[in-house]
Parts: sequence; structure tokens; C-alpha cells
Amino acid sequence: METLLQPVSLLSGVGPQSVIRFKKLGIQSIKDLLFHLPHRYEDRTKIYPIASLSPGMAVLFCGTVEFTEVSPAGRRSLVCRISDHTGYITLKFFHFTAKQSLDLSPGTLLSCFGEIRYGYQGKEIVHPEYKIISSTDNITEPCLSPIYPLTEGLRQSTVRKAIAQALTLYQQDPEQLKDCLPQQILKQYNFPSLSQALLELHQPEQQSTTQLQQGNLAAIKRLAFEELLAHHLILLSNKQAVKQWQAPVLKATEEQSKDFIKSLPFQLTNAQYRVIDEIIADCQSSHPMLRLVQGDVGSGKTVVAAYAALLALSSNYQVAIMAPTELLAEQHNRNFNQWFKNSETHIAYLTGQLKGKARKTILSAIEEGSAGIIIGTHALFQESVKFHQLGLIIIDEQHRFGVHQRLALREKGQTHNSRPHQLVMTATPIPRTLAMLQYSDLDISIIDELPPGREPVMTCVIPAERREQIIEKVNHWTANNNQTYWVCTLIEESEVLQCEAAEKTAEYLTEALPNIRVALVHGRMKSAEKDSIMQGFKNHHYDLLVATTVIEVGVDVPNASLMIIENPERLGLSQLHQLRGRVGRGDQESFCLLMYQNPLSNMGKQRLSILRESSDGFVIAEKDLELRGPGDVMGTRQTGLMQFKIANLERDILLVNQVQVAASIISEQHPNAIQAIIDRWLGQTTLYSEV
Ligand code: ADP
Ligand code: MG
Repeated sequence: METLLQPVSLLSGVGPQSVIRFKKLGIQSIKDLLFHLPHRYEDRTKIYPIASLSPGMAVLFCGTVEFTEVSPAGRRSLVCRISDHTGYITLKFFHFTAKQSLDLSPGTLLSCFGEIRYGYQGKEIVHPEYKIISSTDNITEPCLSPIYPLTEGLRQSTVRKAIAQALTLYQQDPEQLKDCLPQQILKQYNFPSLSQALLELHQPEQQSTTQLQQGNLAAIKRLAFEELLAHHLILLSNKQAVKQWQAPVLKATEEQSKDFIKSLPFQLTNAQYRVIDEIIADCQSSHPMLRLVQGDVGSGKTVVAAYAALLALSSNYQVAIMAPTELLAEQHNRNFNQWFKNSETHIAYLTGQLKGKARKTILSAIEEGSAGIIIGTHALFQESVKFHQLGLIIIDEQHRFGVHQRLALREKGQTHNSRPHQLVMTATPIPRTLAMLQYSDLDISIIDELPPGREPVMTCVIPAERREQIIEKVNHWTANNNQTYWVCTLIEESEVLQCEAAEKTAEYLTEALPNIRVALVHGRMKSAEKDSIMQGFKNHHYDLLVATTVIEVGVDVPNASLMIIENPERLGLSQLHQLRGRVGRGDQESFCLLMYQNPLSNMGKQRLSILRESSDGFVIAEKDLELRGPGDVMGTRQTGLMQFKIANLERDILLVNQVQVAASIISEQHPNAIQAIIDRWLGQTTLYSEV
């Protein structure tokens, strides 16, 4: 067997305990060690004069002990001052032994390493790494010291020793580890070979210091590139795999299509027609559609979905429509009932609220097939739901669902070789570069046009000090028969606090605005209660709706034309844009007041002004990406998706375009390289098990 494929236990210094710990890091073979790259480096290549130390630096320096004492001031600590001929610095230990304080006697020469900070007595360093030395000769390292990611119980020195052995074995026979990237690509991007890149990162040259610290080295770029490429290629190959399945051919006759479009209370926009055409083409093929429809809030995605449903119904297949909240499901239910009222179609509405006999009746209608359209929430993928013949799955606001939920629903429509078509819709515009990474397994349609007559929402950024004035504005607004949303945001993680804030605000506003009918809706209410309040607001039984961010998705109240958002600085721009999309749905001019809390950082100001200047969700998402970085924009930190070993989207975002170009070169000219690249980086992952 090739040496590099042997288990790490073969290396000296790697005992059974270490084997278990290495495994936790995903390291089993010697080859895996080669790809366990440092996440940072320490510079022990030279001794810094104490005078040159400044806070934040983590460097090597030496000095002679002046005095050592146990300081009772504040927290009990051992304080030791050392100096060289340039200055002094204080070493501080909160945990120490008596022996330690004896060892650090005046006159003792020390070498220290650690991060410098400023304390009461000037420069200090807490719990430094230190060694008692007899001279300053031979204490520096020849190159930067790599710091490897560890796991509990595993020591840095164990990892370093193991990796050093792995590198030696690799260099003895470099042919064992093939470079997966074709020469053509290496040349085109001026990348070093795999072996050069790995060596450089494990044993960096002195002169690469700055570039390494900044992640700017060709070696890093090359590996990050290859890793991103692997992620992109696996999504593309999943997409290919989906196309191997059969799917029912769904189509409507020209007459059915005309009747449907004629019965709508509006003219479809060109963008809607274009996306509908894309869906028609997909559903006509006998392979599953897997399409993402992106479109700003209010761009009219629902009716496009309804057209897709028509295709399924006309071919005698069932359609399942899944929405993330009851409110939205309810709204779809109303819309679909309206749009399909001339057809024979029976629409089933299934939510978690539904119990007992009513639920049974609906479940059997779904199973027997008398229900053609099935609209619901998460309740749709419960085990008790069995479809007669599911041909199309529509998922609204897909970012609210996990991949597993989507898969569970798909299973229900699967027969031995056939799968339902899938249409997923999102109002969260994803910047192009990120979409490429996250969604290259899907075909993407974009509705980039709003229905005519929509005025952009006038957006103003106002400090909370002007609350009184804003309340007066609400008063005025109501007098003109218009309705208002008042959105309370708070730290997103705490729903309880958010609801409390909304309750308080509602009380306060009820008092401040005695002639106005105030209602409150928040996430901790029962959904029946929430629904009835929303319905009441829609029917204009209330003038002012105080809400938490639960109203973010979908709700449609055309007469509401003023929105106040408290603490907008706490939310992502795309989320704010979505909230704002609740107004501007009617024909009167609409306003959104972003009532921020002072002091607001420069970045905060800049972000809010983007919202004032643009009403295009894609532009806003791109700008947010620029300002906040991909992690925040994609929300991947929470979902755990897209975890990379080496690539770092904040740093490597510019590589993404090149990755896409390279992927198509490889697919066309070097198809054999694809599997090797995927295996190297994602061999054991189940992250993308399939869509
Ligand atoms: P979203 O894309 O945010 O899901 P909806 O599908 O809820 O948007 O549509 C928003 C509103 O616009 C709804 O009231 C819908 O009936 C209406 N609408 C959709 N398409 C058009 C159109 N082409 N012309 C006019 N109104 C439309
Ligand atoms: Mg919608």
C-alpha cells in the first residue's frame, strides 16, 4: 500500500489516544495530515527588543528579571518585571506555584512569547510562554512556526511532529499524491504545484511572513481555489445526477393556459412570463426540474408558482405547496382559491393546527387524490401525509427550511425511478458570486421586474430622539385613512425579549395615540391568534399594527403604507428590505422610517443609507456582502453549511469567479479530473449528499 494511505498510528509519537483525537479532526491517514494546514503562524524567527513591543503583537523577546512579587492588589497574581537594555515589561500570572515565584528570582534570564497588551504598569503580558535560558543564542526558529487546529487533549507538539514525518514520507515519493488540477489551470492562474503549496504552508519561508499573515500567498490561493472548485463541482455533479431520474411530464393545453391567465385580476409582467416559460420547458422534459425562483418582495412569485401548479393539475398530478408560516400558507390558500375558482380543482389546506376529524378528512382527500393542490406548512412532510400522485413540489421562502425538510417532502413523491419536479422560491436575493457557490445544483430564474404602478418606498433614516415627531406622523397618517406597521426588532436570538419590547411599545403607543386602534402581533402568540389579528389588520379593523419581525415574509395588506422600524441597525440589510416590502403594495405613496438608536457607527450609517438609496434587493444584497462579508450575508454560520478547510470566503471571494471558469474548462476538457478533485476535498462529507 502507498505509504501516505497508511494510518497515522504508523508515525512515531502517535499512540492510540492521539489516533482517536486525530480522527476527531478528520485525520486518519498520513495523507490527511498533509492537508491539515496551519490556521495561523507565530513568528519566533527573531528576538524583539522590548522597546519595540506594542499591544497586539505576539512575538519573541528576552529579558532579565528585575523583581518578582505576589501582588495582592485586585486579583491575587504573581507579577514579574523583566528588562533588556531597551525597556521593561511586566509578566503576570494568575495561576502560579510557589516554585515558579522562586525560580523567577532577580537576575534570571528569560525568553518569552505571547501577546502584548497595555496594563496599569505599561506593557504587560499575561501568562506568557517562558523559558529560563542561559544565553540568547540559538533560541530562534529558522522559519515561522505553524499553529495547527487542535482538539481537546491533542498537543501542538504532537501534531507538528506527526506532520513533519508525513512531509518527509511525502517528499521521498511525491508521485504518491497526484496534483488533481490540470497543468492548463495551474499555468493559467500561475499557481504553484500541490507539493510546492503544501510544503510552503507547513514550512514557510522566512520571507513569506507578511503574505502568509494576510492569506495572500499563492500557495494558500491555490489550495483554497481547489477546495472551492471541489464544492462547485460536487454541486454540478449532483445536478447531473438529478437529471438521471425520471419525472412526470407536466403540461397544460393552450386553452387551459389561456383561461388561467385570462382569469387573473392583473396582467403578468414580462419577467413573470419569462420565468413561466422556463418552468414550462423544465416540466415538459421527463427529468425532474430543480429550479430556484428569486425575486424581490412583491415581484409576484406566487402567481408564477400557481402557473406551475396549473401544469401539474392539467396532467392529473398533485401539487404540494409548502410555506414557512401559517400566515403565509393561509395567504397562499386564499390566493390559490381565488385563482383556481373556475376550475374543478379541490384545494386542501393542511397546517399543524388542524386536528381530529377535519384533519382525517383532508389526509384522506390527499391520499385518494381528490385534493389536487395541497397547501400547508411543515405539517406537509409529516409521516401521516400520503400523496396519491405528487408531481410538483413548490417551496416558498426556501431559506426558512432545512435541506432535510425539502428531501422529506420529495421522498413522498418518489417512485422507483421517478421523482416530482421541484420549484423553490425566495425573496432573499443572493449575490451572484454566492449563489454560484451555494446553488449551482439548481437552475435559477430571476423575476427582476415589479408589477407596474409600484412606487418605490420612500425611506428615511431618523434617530430615535425624534420619536414624538414620528408618533405625530402616525396620527396624521391614520387621519388620512392609511394604516401603519410599527416593527420592534431586538437581538434576534431572544424572541422573548423581542416580544416583550413589542408589548411595551404597543402599550405605550395605545396611550400616546388614544384615537387610534392599535393591535399587536408577535412570535409567541398562538398562530390562530396571530392570524386573526393579521386578518383584522387586513380588514382595517386596526390602524396601527405593532409587530416583531414575524411579519417579515409574505403578508399582503395593500392599505398599509407607513412602516416604522425600530433599531434597524441590528438587522441585516436584506432582512430590512424584506420588512420594508410589506408596504408599497397599494397604489398610494409609501414610507419607511428607520428609527435608529444613537450612537450609530459609520458603518451603520453607511448601511442604512444604502437602504435609503436603493429599492433593488439584489443591489442591496451585493452592498451588504461588500460591507459585512459573505458569512453574515449567507447566514451559513448558523446553518453549518459550506464549511471549508482552507478557503475563507471573506478572503477568497474573488476566487469564486475563476472557480466557475475553471469548472467549465475541466468539465469540457478534463472530465476525469472531476472525481479526483471532489474526492480529495469532500471524500467523506455528507454535506451535499444530494438534492
Ligand atoms: P412575492 O414575490 O413577494 O411573493 P406576491 O406573489 O405575494 O409577491 O405578489 C405580491 C402582490 O402583487 C400580490 O397581491 C399579487 O396578487 C400581486 N401581483 C402579482 N403579479 C402581479 C402583476 N403582474 N400585476 C399586478 N399585481 C400583481
Ligand atoms: Mg411570497
